[in-house]
Amino acid sequence: MQRAIVFGCGKMCKDVYPKLLEEYSIVALSDNNDVLWGKTINELGFGEGGVLVVPPTEIIANLGDGIVIICVFEGKKEIFKQLKNMGVKRISALIDGVCADYDIETGDFWGDYYRQLPVLPEQLEIALTGYCNLKCPYCLAHSEFYKYPLKKKHMSWEILHEITRQLSTISSLETLVLCGLGEPLLNPEWFEMAKQLIYETSMKNIDLSTNGMLLNEENVEKLISLNCEMTIKVSIDGNSPQEHEFWRKGSSYSLVKKNVNHAIKNMKSCTIRFVLRGLSLVPYELGIQSKWHEVEEYFGKCGEYLRYDFPHSNVSVTHVGIEPAFGALPGTVIKRFNADTQNTNCNLPFKRISINHLGDIMNCNIYSGRKIIGNVMLCDLYDTWLNNSLMISLREEFRKGSSLEMCKLCHMIPGEREWLAEAEVNKSV
Ligand code: SF4
Repeated sequence: MQRAIVFGCGKMCKDVYPKLLEEYSIVALSDNNDVLWGKTINELGFGEGGVLVVPPTEIIANLGDGIVIICVFEGKKEIFKQLKNMGVKRISALIDGVCADYDIETGDFWGDYYRQLPVLPEQLEIALTGYCNLKCPYCLAHSEFYKYPLKKKHMSWEILHEITRQLSTISSLETLVLCGLGEPLLNPEWFEMAKQLIYETSMKNIDLSTNGMLLNEENVEKLISLNCEMTIKVSIDGNSPQEHEFWRKGSSYSLVKKNVNHAIKNMKSCTIRFVLRGLSLVPYELGIQSKWHEVEEYFGKCGEYLRYDFPHSNVSVTHVGIEPAFGALPGTVIKRFNADTQNTNCNLPFKRISINHLGDIMNCNIYSGRKIIGNVMLCDLYDTWLNNSLMISLREEFRKGSSLEMCKLCHMIPGEREWLAEAEVNKSV
């Protein structure tokens, strides 16, 4: 069995330690936190045994002995830099339960990751409606730039029954992702539809994206009654209530705040995450020629303000980034855009089935990349997802360590890509 040192002793390591033991003989753990040095895995609560935590400098002393380093950090970039400075050339890094080789010199990781990633649908992403109660100017549905032909309709029961029938045989499905270009809670039958999907398929988790305006007491009661593991992502823009309402046309920050804080209080088992949208954040304050590090600093400030207004929630600020959709804003000009310095870490073509409110099956549901590959009323959902030529090309490119052109512009998946943009915006939008 391959011998290994695990770098990073945080919660993530604790969660994956038993799985690592199935594949590796762990000789030591290492961490930058000197308080942990000299402690055993027993003392850290990872399990029985006397494996020790050693300082990172000791990693080097052991490497000649055929030992690999497994990195289990979320923020790998800094750690990779540290290991590179220590003279380490190759490691393994763990992401999504997949341990892939990472060449520190070249940054080559994703090809190996994708070669090991099974093609197995775990998530169903579904849009229950084409209506929305807000009119955010950067949204595909309302943008003057995109002129996207979004049909204003709720999902019909005929389509939902067909989706349920076809999905009932796919036992790998775990999570129902309720999102799309409309506001899911605006469908008057969202609850009955979600209930059917949960009760008649193998899905047991819900991941709801909402603008929070309809996350009222009645809907919170309904969500609780579904008795699922639940993540609710509430999209909040900007660095203040005023900025939020500036970008999210029609939203009331005070109502969203009241709704979310009520939901947090009553849905104890539920993770509520805030999604902050970089594409609307950047120009408002930073203006012309904003650089990525300025954007990151700006995101940091947003986290503080949300933590203050939503004291009992899990505030997780998502770096959505800047993408050409940015150019959808009247008065905005993309001057420079560089998104192909690194590869995507998107796993959607491997794990997620996406369906819109008309029953169209899509490769993914992201602005720049969405393509219709079939319709549930006309074809076999699973077979289309598995064997459609676009799905096959996406997976093949990712396995080669590259990606299709359409993915290079995709902002959705947080990863190691660098985004550089310069933009102007007319604040009177
Ligand atoms: S466009 Fe984005 S979300 Fe869609 S498959 Fe490509 S990387 Fe994944």
